[in-house]
Amino acid sequence: MNPIAIIGAGPAGLACAMKIKENGIDVNVFEEHEDIGEPEHCSGLISKKGLEELGVLPGKSLQNEIKGARIYSPSGQYIEVKRKETVAFVVNRKEFDQMLLRRARLLNIHVATQTKLIDVRNNTLFVQAGGRGELRKSDYVIGADGVNSTVRHLMGIQVPKENYVHTMQTTLTGEFNDKIVEVHLGEFAKGFFGWVIPISKEKAKVGIGTTLGEDVNLRFREFVKKRFPNSRIRKADSALIPCGPPLQGIAKNNLAIVGDAAFQTKATTGGGIIFGMKAGNVLGEIIAQVAKGKANISEYEKQLDSINKELRLHWKLRRFLNGLKDKEIDDLIIKLKQKGIEEFLEKEGDMDEPSKFIGKLARNPKYFFLAGTLLKFLTS
Ligand SMILES: Cc1cc2nc3c(=O)[nH]c(=O)nc-3n(C[C@H](O)[C@H](O)[C@H](O)COP(=O)(O)OP(=O)(O)OC[C@H]3O[C@@H](n4cnc5c(N)ncnc54)[C@H](O)[C@@H]3O)c2cc1C
Repeated sequence: MNPIAIIGAGPAGLACAMKIKENGIDVNVFEEHEDIGEPEHCSGLISKKGLEELGVLPGKSLQNEIKGARIYSPSGQYIEVKRKETVAFVVNRKEFDQMLLRRARLLNIHVATQTKLIDVRNNTLFVQAGGRGELRKSDYVIGADGVNSTVRHLMGIQVPKENYVHTMQTTLTGEFNDKIVEVHLGEFAKGFFGWVIPISKEKAKVGIGTTLGEDVNLRFREFVKKRFPNSRIRKADSALIPCGPPLQGIAKNNLAIVGDAAFQTKATTGGGIIFGMKAGNVLGEIIAQVAKGKANISEYEKQLDSINKELRLHWKLRRFLNGLKDKEIDDLIIKLKQKGIEEFLEKEGDMDEPSKFIGKLARNPKYFFLAGTLLKFLTS
């Protein structure tokens, strides 16, 4: 049997590769870039609990530990949810991916860099390696090739352009609360939000996302100027985030997709590292069984049930937020604060799994004023 091919050496691809190899099946990873983890776009905010569930430590990639979040309305009202203990890590994404790469190499997984997938026909891959076209053989090809996935395209899966968010991000120097991330809601960031993720008291990753077609560059500069009038943007990166429901039909014949390629990102925040790696583990386990003739590739989607349930809730929350005008967000934040949402979320909140608290919120008499909205939202 030919080794399994994974396209993309990001967190989802490397997690999947390691799971396959741990099951005794040969796997090769193909990565178009020379350096793993580059170009770096990500803010690197990941839940401590999610990482623990994956059995991964942030190690040298750790930049900061976060204890809470402030969610701002357009007029500057906010709710603050804070815990005594660390709830999330900020990691350097290049270091994080490099750490996963070292783990993969320890398992003797071959990662071919500067090798870009162009096409797949049956069990033949057409790749561009070091500027030359070459052929590779593989019985199964896994697309962990990110938001603009070639494998997804080859599978004929279309995604509406409204389900992408365009982001701009920079690293600012200034004065920051190093334990709290900021989320800024409002029509200025149509379809998403603005964020401040501190790396230290002096540095933060600051960015904004909007639906495609908005002038994200202008919105980003206006946001930075308003929030940090004394800071200067030296360099800003632009990138896309998948922001829609998790895709269906993601395993066909000898092809499957995982991570950003399959829209396994939280549509509320754009975070995709934890769910991408969890889905990578699921797919790795299934593909290894498929290779041994003990399972069918269609099992992959069935095994994603619990992950997809959470991702769909994130998407419903995103759609709900996207439907609110500035004044409605202001009113909602003020009312939620009056009703003690900060204490509720401090106790019950979960940044990855909304199912852990949405039901409790709906059943709490204090939040019955949200009943109509929640019902509409949960049954949509
Ligand atoms: C501005 C921004 C901020 C973010 N902040 C966070 C955050 O705070 N927390 C969080 O959890 N997530 C965040 N994300 C999302 C996170 O970066 C992604 O969800 C995550 O990187 C997805 O991992 P992946 O392995 O699926 O894909 P990727 O990390 O994108 O890896 C895909 C890999 O495939 C390679 N590739 C693509 N096409 C080919 C090809 N044809 N041949 C060979 N190789 C190919 C790419 O070079 C890349 O290395 C953010 C994203 C952006 C844009």
